[in-house]
Amino acid sequence: MDYKADENRYGEMPYRKTGKSGLKLPPISLGLWHNFGGTDLLENSRALARRAFDLGVTHFDLANNYGPPPGSAEETFGQILKKDLHPYRDELIIASKAGYRMWDGPYGERGSRKSMLSSLDQSLKRMGLEYVDIFYSHRFDAETQLEETMSALDQAVRQGKALYVGVSNYNAEQTAEAAVILKRLGTPFVIHQVHYSMFERRLEQGLQDVLTHEGIGSIAYSPLARGLLTDRYLKEIPADSRAAGGSVFLRPEDITEEKLGKSRKLNELAAERGQSLAQMALAWVLRKGLVTSALIGASKVQQLEDNIAAIRNLHFTDEELALIDQILAD
Ligand code: NDP
Repeated sequence: MDYKADENRYGEMPYRKTGKSGLKLPPISLGLWHNFGGTDLLENSRALARRAFDLGVTHFDLANNYGPPPGSAEETFGQILKKDLHPYRDELIIASKAGYRMWDGPYGERGSRKSMLSSLDQSLKRMGLEYVDIFYSHRFDAETQLEETMSALDQAVRQGKALYVGVSNYNAEQTAEAAVILKRLGTPFVIHQVHYSMFERRLEQGLQDVLTHEGIGSIAYSPLARGLLTDRYLKEIPADSRAAGGSVFLRPEDITEEKLGKSRKLNELAAERGQSLAQMALAWVLRKGLVTSALIGASKVQQLEDNIAAIRNLHFTDEELALIDQILAD
């Protein structure tokens, strides 16, 4: 049966402005790094994307290399667009990125103009799109002048292949330099995609100040620490979890007793707040209103629903915030 989006999808989601730009994003966005590859079940990926959109998640985050195999998440998303979401294209913010290794030879990675623009063309083809809403430089490339990488982003916008641009994994100085170049070029640099969670707080050490000063928004990736800030691992490593699945980004040895001890204490506080640990972890990322959106992953529709319900309580008392800092510091 043809998919028809829920008519009430815009009822509850409090969209937020991305920095000083006019672009609004949902406080919870869905990332397609995992669970949308060629090795995953298409019907599960479809169910996740459809449920997300039905609940007001308008933003889907991809990259050239998401899979596995690399590129297959964009192909899967292309199929989901074709089957389900294409009629709603103007209601969607679709992002992609280039920078990590995607194809063989000297142009298959990093930040040269050749690599960035060829990669964007490939991404558009895989997704069956004429343009992405946000195109990112996925990482800073010390081998390429920043001017060249930024001018590739600028070119993507001028060609009509991207509406906005962003950077990811750039430090404070690199971001400030990128902002100067993009401002001079007149390119809409609206967002920084940054690793941020209770367990990863480098954003607070200088980068946030640059973003605030420049009026650039941010989207926090892996806000659940890849599952560690949920109830997933509190008792054991479940057989269907990312850590059990051979991911190099979350190995069983990363799930240390130290981290679990903190997660268990945080879980108790979350219960007192009437939230799941995942919901509290997301509310915490969004707490000051500085981070525009928390970019989650989900392997099951139920996780997605649990996470999106976090928007119902984003408030913390000073005592709760102090207690969280104390738990994290112990
Ligand atoms: P998260 O920290 O949100 O981790 C997601 C994982 O946590 C899920 O796959 C699931 O694990 C578990 N989980 C999620 N919700 C729940 C819940 N309610 N209860 C129990 N477990 C839950 O983010 P990701 O690491 O997946 O990253 C999110 C997105 O960020 C990516 O898809 C990508 O778009 C982006 N990203 C960007 C990077 C960059 O360099 N710019 C780098 C990394 C990510 P399980 O699968 O075990 O069920």
